Amino acid sequence: MAGFSVIWLMGSGPDRLTVRSKTYWDKDQGGLDPFRIPKRVAKEIEARRSSTGSGEALSHPIRYIWIYVTETGLRQNGGAVDFEETLGLDGWLNVIDECAALGAEWMVVYVGASLSEAPFIWQVCAWAQDVHDLRVGLHLTSNCLSEDDIERLSRLDSEKTYLVADKAHIASLRFLEAKGIRLCEANVLAAERVAHCTKPEEIACVGPDGRLFSCGLVLGDERYAMGDSQHRTLHDVTADESLPHAVTDTAAFPSTGCDACPPLIAKRVLETEAQ
Ligand code: SF4
Repeated sequence: MAGFSVIWLMGSGPDRLTVRSKTYWDKDQGGLDPFRIPKRVAKEIEARRSSTGSGEALSHPIRYIWIYVTETGLRQNGGAVDFEETLGLDGWLNVIDECAALGAEWMVVYVGASLSEAPFIWQVCAWAQDVHDLRVGLHLTSNCLSEDDIERLSRLDSEKTYLVADKAHIASLRFLEAKGIRLCEANVLAAERVAHCTKPEEIACVGPDGRLFSCGLVLGDERYAMGDSQHRTLHDVTADESLPHAVTDTAAFPSTGCDACPPLIAKRVLETEAQ
């Protein structure tokens, strides 16, 4: 099959083959090498083995990935959240591979005010969609998009891509729908929040430096720290009942901190699709 790359999908969706042109991987994905796949498949098999071979079934499988690929615009307790070194492309692909092995079906990517904050997000999104069949929401906190951003958004799988934005920006982004890019409001309503939230049980929330927190509302708050995704397997983190798998005092945090919460975004998307 000269000129083509065959990808074996191992995600939670139906097994199938996706064929992408070599040009797609060389140029559109910035040289992301599809032949790295055997290495990643081996990692995924290892993750699946650790999630089943130990005889310890997860009581709450991961369904949602929430990743913060930039620290720009993140605030906690009135100040900027302090993160150390930020993860690169390989680190994020590892997170996605592990989460997919644990059952993830949806992903929300916080990109801050500009999609160019993290140039590798296109590769991250394409990997999540093509290799793991994940539905992906890109959470943009502004309505600023360049021509290049729009072009790259259009190249993602339109059936699995959502631009998640504040309702104040939705009207000015409507033109994207004509290009096949779906929109979803990020704002979480007061009625959707509960004082003691157990949704984090199904969320793997990873900050810019790879550290895990219960969810985006408490990102950067050490009381809700779950360890480092680069040094501990997500299966271990998920199975460790000593970690904070729920947020017990949501009212103590700003209500906007719940915006773009993946299970609520997924619910919204599914309700819209059902109409
Ligand atoms: S962001 Fe809010 S709604 Fe989502 S899991 Fe955290 S506390 Fe719950």
